[in-house]
Amino acid sequence: MAQETEAAKQLAETKKALLMQKKHGAQRMDAEQIAACDAFCEGYKAFLDNGKTEREVAQYAIAQLEQDGFHRWNPGEPVQAGDRIYICNRGKAVVAAVIGSEPLANGIRLTAAHIDSPRLDLKQSPLYEDKELALFKTHYYGGIKKYQWTTIPMAIHGVVAKCDGTVVNIHVGEQDTDPIFCVTDLLPHLATEQVQRTLAQGIKGEELNVLIGSRPYDSEEGSDLVKLQIMKILNETYGITESDFLSAELEVVPAGKARDLGFDRSMIGAYGHDDRVCAYPALRALMDCKTPAKTAVLILTDKEEIGSDGNTGLCSSYFHDFMKDLATVCGTTVHTVFAQSQCLSADVTAAVDPTFADVNDPRNAAYLNYGVCMMKYTGARGKSGSSDASAEFVAEIRALLEQNEVIWQTGELGKVDIGGGGTVAAYLANLNIDTVDVGVPVLSMHAPMEVVSKIDVYMAYRAFAAFQA
Ligand code: MN
Ligand code: MN
Repeated sequence: MAQETEAAKQLAETKKALLMQKKHGAQRMDAEQIAACDAFCEGYKAFLDNGKTEREVAQYAIAQLEQDGFHRWNPGEPVQAGDRIYICNRGKAVVAAVIGSEPLANGIRLTAAHIDSPRLDLKQSPLYEDKELALFKTHYYGGIKKYQWTTIPMAIHGVVAKCDGTVVNIHVGEQDTDPIFCVTDLLPHLATEQVQRTLAQGIKGEELNVLIGSRPYDSEEGSDLVKLQIMKILNETYGITESDFLSAELEVVPAGKARDLGFDRSMIGAYGHDDRVCAYPALRALMDCKTPAKTAVLILTDKEEIGSDGNTGLCSSYFHDFMKDLATVCGTTVHTVFAQSQCLSADVTAAVDPTFADVNDPRNAAYLNYGVCMMKYTGARGKSGSSDASAEFVAEIRALLEQNEVIWQTGELGKVDIGGGGTVAAYLANLNIDTVDVGVPVLSMHAPMEVVSKIDVYMAYRAFAAFQA
């Protein structure tokens, strides 16, 4: 009997020493840590409610940075250790930095998240009337399952730039007293043909039309009077005419606030977790920096969801140019800095959904509540589009997370050859920066309401804070 107990004990010890231990995050945290996690997520929910477009997130982030002592930096302006600076590219992308005590030539510690999210953009000529209803034509932005975007309350956020140089802000559908909008769908009674379509074609791109009005302009004659009445209201409210839509960026997004999800309030259901769920922890981590050893830098970029092209996306030179200007005032060259730099590409990954678990390799998938997820590589098929971090760099980050008691996991975006996706990691790695993906697992990614676990959000913050401390 005693011998058996001894053997069992030895087996347990050998297992503990040699095998990976996996455990739910909540079982690895005490009540105080869970309270800190929940408190952190209150700030995150406010961040979500204040930023549903890249412009709004950039503006909100800048307000937070300025409150925290950051100032808008101009190239050529000298910097010293402890300085808190930021730049903003065209109102849609932000780079912020806390200057470290070591020379810049020793490299930076960079976090990079994106602040654009999938949505319905208004077309350039969006307004029309059909069957005495007024509607907006849209063009979807990012990879969406179109059928998910019908029959839910929608808001409209964005800007209209007029020929006189003024820019009108539009933000309607979020207040309880605001009207909302929606994309309609066919009733099941008459959907016999529609339901034969594939899921991808269930709602087609040209069927994502937003209902915006139904009463005519007060006139006995004339056509398109409902459209005219809507334009009259828009003119009275915003001072715009129909041709002003030609130079507008109006984004139709799910209306409403971020909410706790589950009886235990352990999760958050909201629009736009991808990728504000990494942007907010990364922002907070940078704001925590006093004077780090290595200069800490944060990128909040635009256009990731459509491939990072365009002058506010990370394939443009704006980040490189900022670093070049910073290197110049620090008496070094940008390529010297990059070669010594490290980056956490802060973007979401897919969490295992029990209803659709067979798309994952269960041994290499991310789970809700198991902490922030580090992915050595992303991509599709044979790692196409991935930057594949080096073993040495992954080991460094592993050690950092362990030393700082960050709850973390690894994962891949689904089974090999079942699909895939990339992040901005590749573009930063292409600058000769050591880069690895570290982000929050998400359920229902790219849906109007995405789901994350509060523990994972908090652990993303802890990971970024440890990295830039
Ligand atoms: Mn993303
Ligand atoms: Mn995405």
